[in-house]
Amino acid sequence: MSGTKNFPRIKSVRALCQQGASGDAGADCHDVPDSHWLNCGLAPVATPMSCHPQYAATRKSWGINALGTLAVEDQMFRATLNYGRKGLPIQAISAVDLALWDLLGKLRKEPVYALLGGKAKDRLPVYCTTGRPDIAKSLGFVGAKIPCPYGPSDGDEGLRKNVEFYKSWREKVGPDFPLSLDCYMALTVPYATKLARALEPHGLKWMEEFLPPDCYDGYKEVRENLRGCGVLLTTGEHEYSRYGFRQLLESRCVDVIQPDITWLGGVTEARRVVAMAAATDTLVIPHGSSVYSYHLQYAFPNCPLAEYINMSHSADEIVPYFGGLFPDEPLPRGGFIDLPDRPGFGVTLDKTKLTRPYTRSDVESKTQAAANANRKVPDKPHFPF
Ligand SMILES: [Mg+2]
Repeated sequence: MSGTKNFPRIKSVRALCQQGASGDAGADCHDVPDSHWLNCGLAPVATPMSCHPQYAATRKSWGINALGTLAVEDQMFRATLNYGRKGLPIQAISAVDLALWDLLGKLRKEPVYALLGGKAKDRLPVYCTTGRPDIAKSLGFVGAKIPCPYGPSDGDEGLRKNVEFYKSWREKVGPDFPLSLDCYMALTVPYATKLARALEPHGLKWMEEFLPPDCYDGYKEVRENLRGCGVLLTTGEHEYSRYGFRQLLESRCVDVIQPDITWLGGVTEARRVVAMAAATDTLVIPHGSSVYSYHLQYAFPNCPLAEYINMSHSADEIVPYFGGLFPDEPLPRGGFIDLPDRPGFGVTLDKTKLTRPYTRSDVESKTQAAANANRKVPDKPHFPF
């Protein structure tokens, strides 16, 4: 028997950290005393937070101060730059940003869409992401989207089965019902090109997120391969921040971008993205996000259609997107999503089943609140850059 066959297997994995008197140190080189040169002990160090004086003192004196939604989102984005920028940190920032927009609406007694400038449309039509487009049609949705069953590893037979799958649903819903395909980052450039060409005669409305989100060149290549093809190309649910969407929009590789408002950076970042998209005539049809998307979409003309992801087990009934989190979450009816005239996002958080994973004492909360309330306000103007 060869040596490699006897190679030992890993039996368990444990994560450990060290805790010293002056910090945890280890792999975080900034976790050293304030007097250390890395933390401005010998000379000041310019950081992304230097523009927020309260948090400019050292590399680890960062925090947030609720000056307003734009400032908070900026502070959180800057304070997490060394490990953030995309993915989970921006998703967490989004949650805080959305909570602040909700709070602002409640303080001003206005819905978020009103804070964003008011309704740009009387009613918002909605399509359904589902495993049962036939039921979606009977429930009144204006279109549907189904998941692509097979990828390149399933070979030519998988491609044939994808075409048959789409065709069978097309026959069930009829020729005039818009039916799209979600490819969830699973395809390659040649495969996506072939699939779109094969489904064009069967009326594929759009092909969604067919490549990994960072493959901007690949999206562009598919766009060029499909010049003259009637299938629309979409992506963006796993793109983050204005920087990511700028790259996507500048490459002109898709017809529709699909930011998720609870992931890309909240409403603060989403309205920047919507403005950039307007300048390239690219439509914005956000991914899921329920009320967080709907308020944004009512406020901007280039967001013409909402998505409802059917979360029911067998895709056969309309249920709330957020489960039992918001008992009054508005649901699609007759192909539209209508918003209640309530302040903020207009939904009530049911806290009865929620738990707090990390607690903070009243003293800690009050200390932080006092530090924010008593922060030094500039008394002399200076040229700011
Ligand atoms: Mg998708």
